[in-house]
This record gives sequence, C-alpha cells and structure tokens, in this order.
Amino acid sequence: MHETSTPLTAERRPLAPLKWSNWYLSILRLAVGLLLALLIALLWLLHRNEVEEQRATLIADVLWLEQSLRFHLDGHSEQLQQLALDLTQTRKPHPLFDLRARHILKNNSELQQLLWIDASGKTVAGMPNPALPRVEPGPFGEDRVSRSLELVRLGNPVYSDAYALNDAVQFEIYVPLFRGGRHRGTLLGVYSLNGLLKHQVPWWFAERYLLRILDGNGQTLASKSKVDASPTTLTYAVSFEPPGYGMTLKATAYRAADNLAQTLISTLMVILAAAVFWSLWAVRGSIQRRLLAEQALRSEYAFRKAMEDSLMVGMRARDLAGRVTYANPAFLRMVGFRSDELIGREPPMPYWAPEEMERTLHLHNSVLEGNAPHEGFEIRLMRKDGSRFDALVYEAPLIDSDGRQTGWMGSIIDVTARKRAEDLARQQQEKLQITARLVTMGEMASTLAHELNQPLAAITSYTAGCMNKLTTGNFTPEQLKEALGKLAVQAQRAGHIIRRVHDFVRKSEPKLAPCDLAEVIDDSIGFIEGAAKSRGVRIQREIQGMRPELPADRVMLEQVLLNLMRNGIEAMSEMPAERRRLTVKLSQVEQQMEIRVIDHGLGIPPEVEEKLFTPLFSTKADGMGMGLSICRSIIEFHHGRLWVEANPAGGSIFVITLPIGRQ
Ligand code: ADP
Repeated sequence: MHETSTPLTAERRPLAPLKWSNWYLSILRLAVGLLLALLIALLWLLHRNEVEEQRATLIADVLWLEQSLRFHLDGHSEQLQQLALDLTQTRKPHPLFDLRARHILKNNSELQQLLWIDASGKTVAGMPNPALPRVEPGPFGEDRVSRSLELVRLGNPVYSDAYALNDAVQFEIYVPLFRGGRHRGTLLGVYSLNGLLKHQVPWWFAERYLLRILDGNGQTLASKSKVDASPTTLTYAVSFEPPGYGMTLKATAYRAADNLAQTLISTLMVILAAAVFWSLWAVRGSIQRRLLAEQALRSEYAFRKAMEDSLMVGMRARDLAGRVTYANPAFLRMVGFRSDELIGREPPMPYWAPEEMERTLHLHNSVLEGNAPHEGFEIRLMRKDGSRFDALVYEAPLIDSDGRQTGWMGSIIDVTARKRAEDLARQQQEKLQITARLVTMGEMASTLAHELNQPLAAITSYTAGCMNKLTTGNFTPEQLKEALGKLAVQAQRAGHIIRRVHDFVRKSEPKLAPCDLAEVIDDSIGFIEGAAKSRGVRIQREIQGMRPELPADRVMLEQVLLNLMRNGIEAMSEMPAERRRLTVKLSQVEQQMEIRVIDHGLGIPPEVEEKLFTPLFSTKADGMGMGLSICRSIIEFHHGRLWVEANPAGGSIFVITLPIGRQ
C-alpha cells in the first residue's frame, strides 16, 4: 500500500514550490514595474522643477530688464531736464546745447537725435541735424508731435507712441524748457527701439531669451534674438510704459543646451529599466523551465525509488575497487544486514559463506577484471544469522552519464527454493525411474523365468549325467571335466542373468562411466530377446563404424532402449509375421552417436505424436504412459536428444543422439 502510494505523492509534492516561485516572481515583477514608474515620476518631477525654476528666473530676469530699461530712460530724462534747465540759465545757450547734445548722443547710442524746439514749435538747433524726425509726414505724425508738444507744456517730460519709420521703430521724448514759470521751448530726443534693445540688453539675457517689444495689438516692434536657438513655450511679458503706451516687453526662454544630455540620460535610464524588466521576464521563463525539469526529475526519482523498493530481485552496486556503494531493500532483506553495515565495505563481505570464501573471492576478482560470466553464476551466501542460501548472480557494468564505467551492478536472486524444488523433482524422477524399471521387470518376469529355466535345466541335466557316470564308473576324467565345464558355463549364464536383473532393479544414483554403446545395445537385446521371440518378433542389430566410448549411466541407457524396443515389439504384435522385424542401429553422425530403434508397426498418428512424451499418456489398456517421458529425461540428462520419425517403410523410428567428447 505504502509503496504504491509513493509515486502519486511524489507527483503532487513539487507543485508547491512551483506556486511559491510564481508568487515570488510576481512580486519581483511588481517591484521592478513600480521602480520603473517611480523613475519616470522622478524624472517628470525633476523636469517640472526645472521648468518652474526656469520660469521663476525668467520672471525675475524680465522684471529686472524692464526696471533697468526704465532706469536708463529715466536717467536720460533727467539729463535732458538738466540740459533744459541749463539752457534757460545760460547766456550762450547754443554752444552749450551743441556741446551737451553731442556728449549725450555719443554716450547713448539708442538716442538718435536731439532737437531744441522753441515755444512756437520751430527747431532752434538739432544734433546731428536740425530736421524733425518725420521725413514723410503722415496725417497722424503731426497730430502726435503737436499733441506731445501740447502735453509737455504741462511741465513733465512726455513720451510719444512708438512708430515705424523706414523699417525702424522709434519713439520720442519731449522735455519742457521753463524760464520764469513760462514755457520757452522743448527738448526732443528720438529713440530707436532696436537701438535701445541692442545697447541696453546684456548679452547673457539675449543668450537665454528671445526678447521682443510688442505694441498694443501684439505686433512685434523690435526684438533681440539669437538666431540659432529654438524658443520654448516658456514666455513672460510685462507692460513697458512709459515710454510707449500699451507696449509690452516679452521674453521667451530658449531651450537649455544641457537639456539634450538630460533627455539622453533619462532615455537611457528608461531603456535600462526596461531591459532589467525584460531580463527578469526571460529569467522567469528559464526558472519555470528549470522547476518543471526538477519536478519531472523528482517524479522520476520517486517512481524509480518505488520501483526499486518493490523489486524482489536484490541489487548491489560496487565501485571499481570492489567496495559496496549501494544495496537495495530486497538485497538487504535477503542477507539480513542494514544498509550502513554494507555500504563502503571491502571484500571479504560479511555475507560471504566462510566455506566458499575462496571461490567467492575468485568470482569477485573475475567480476572486477570484467570476466563476469554472461549467463550469471550460482553462489552460496550467508545471512546475518548465519543461515545459508543459494543465489544466482548476474553482473553488469555500471556506466555513468558520461559513459564512463564507475563500477559493477549485480542482480541477485535467491534460488534456494528453486534448487530445493529441483532436487525434489529429481528425486521424484529417480523414484519414478525405479518404479518404471520394476514395472518393466514385472512385465518381463515370465520371460526371465523362462530364460533362467534354460541354464537351470541344463545344469540339472549335466548334473544328472555326471551322477550317472559316477554311479556306473564308466567315465574318463576328461569326460567328467568337460561335463562339469559346461555345467559351470550354464551356472555362469544363470548368474549373469540374475546379476543383470539385480543391477537393473537396484536403486542407485546415476553413475556416469565410460561405456560402449554397442555393449549396451547387446545387453538390452539379451534382456528382451525372450519376450520378442514369444511374440514372433526378430531383433536385428546393426553396429557401424567406430565405437567411441561415452560417459553414460549404463543401466539408465539400457532402460531407455528396453522401453523403446518393448514399445516397438508391442506395436508390431498385430502385424503379419514377415513384418515383425525390429532393428536397432548404432552409427556416428558428426560429433554424435545415434541409435535408431526401427519398427514396422502401424506408426504413430499425429494426434498421438503431440502427446507422446507427456507423462501418463498411453493408448494401451494396461499402459502406464510413463516410459517415453522418462526416456526423454534420461537422454537429456546425458545432454542428448530423443525424438520420433515416421518410418518410410511403415512404422516408426525412435532416434537417440548422444554427444561425443562431453564430460
Ligand atoms: P506405455 O507404453 O506405457 O503406453 P509409453 O510412454 O512408453 O507408455 O508410450 C506412450 C504411447 O506411445 C503408447 O501408449 C503408444 O500409443 C505410443 N507408442 C510408443 N511407441 C510406439 C511405437 N513404436 N509405435 C506406435 N506407437 C507407439
């Protein structure tokens, strides 16, 4: 029960680790996924921070620039106001204007022109020229200048709107001249908007931002840009007034140069994380394959173990040095030792029987030398309790997975029971042979009596003759000697017959001794001749060629021949007298001696032939049916064969072959 359930449990057991590893792998996958998501989030946050920072810097920069431009313009305005004041106070205003105007224009490139206009709106002086800036006066141009001149009378500097002239955008500043509380004129400065940006915006600002000045409609009036940089959407605008009313100063940040490196690094990080994720996935596949292989291996192992445990054949492995490396449960049961008592043991083994130590050691050595008999060998082994058992051992080389021999694997079968059964069968067979012999003897008793009768009668008559001679005294010693000699011959003949009968009936072990088959045949014929005569059968003997002697049990072979001859004689009893001929032929065929017992009876029908050699088969009313089966086992005991053939001339031929030269 336990053994059969083992493979089933072994199949179920490995499922647990498989489930566990799936779970573990899922967690790992989740962790890597999370890591990837966090990484992306971190990059996004960094990017956002950076944008925020950039934006804050942008705002600060733009505000600073706006302020700085305004300061600058305010500075100009103050300079012009100072000039206006000085002009009203000096006696020689013209040289002063020229001097100061030149100075101011020289130091402020964005100021293109400075004009001195009197209260009536006429130009008093101008630098570099006295012409009013409107080269092509338009309907609005005059309006604007007159309006500005009007406004400036109120006492404060006034800025005009920005306007385009010859592709350049400019605006003006009007500063009033007052003396004695009366408006005496105006100082007019013409600014170039592009000049203002060009000269007043520092280089680093232009490096970072695209700077534009827009009018109220969003049209670009002036700009300062670095042509090879691409702008981003990061923009900030502040109103830039005065000078021009409704103007805005707008800065757009350029894409930072180091952004490319950052993008590259983040892309690489994402690619790396994806690669890690992918490799994890691949590893998962290989781990699962390994687990499946391991599971298959475990079931295979459990199955083999169960098979091994259920084996009735003992298995014992030895390494090349002869040490025991493995013994299966069947072998341990057989010898009664525990596994740890045998593993690692070197010869002599504790289960070797002392009386067979030498032979066992010899066999052991020949196995290690690779000369183990293929058909296995029988050996007597000893259990731990000292009892003995017979074992049949087969040895085979033990080959490892690299194809190298690592030792020897022996399978051991306990053949004690089989040997006992064989012994029993042999004894029974012997008893049967004796019985069969007795039966044969019984059948031949009358013949023997008749046979014995002849010498006895002859002895009686010779004795009577001698007595007569002695009583009459009419005799010569030679005559008496001759009669006594004949008497002795007859007595010997009677004795011979009796000894033969005795030999035949006596129970004895099979004794193999060199014997001449021709003599065996003659003896057998001598035995049965009487019976044959009484049935009117003639026996012919044909002995051919050489007569090599064979190691055989003479009495057993006689028994076989007698049985075959008796069967032949019986088979011909119904035949016409001229056919009642039994031939016994001895010849040598190659390495075998062949005896043929040929009769001319009715032959053997096929259905009888099939069962001919099975014990207890007989077609005769008083037959025992033991004869032929015993005959075959006797011949096989002599390593020969016995079979039947049909006689072409009618009847059957029983053929015995016996090998020559076998000990
Ligand atoms: P049994 O002689 O006691 O019947 P055997 O084993 O000697 O037992 O023979 C078995 C049977 O084989 C015989 O009954 C007979 O039918 C058949 N048999 C044997 N020898 C011959 C033969 N020479 N011719 C015909 N039949 C035979």
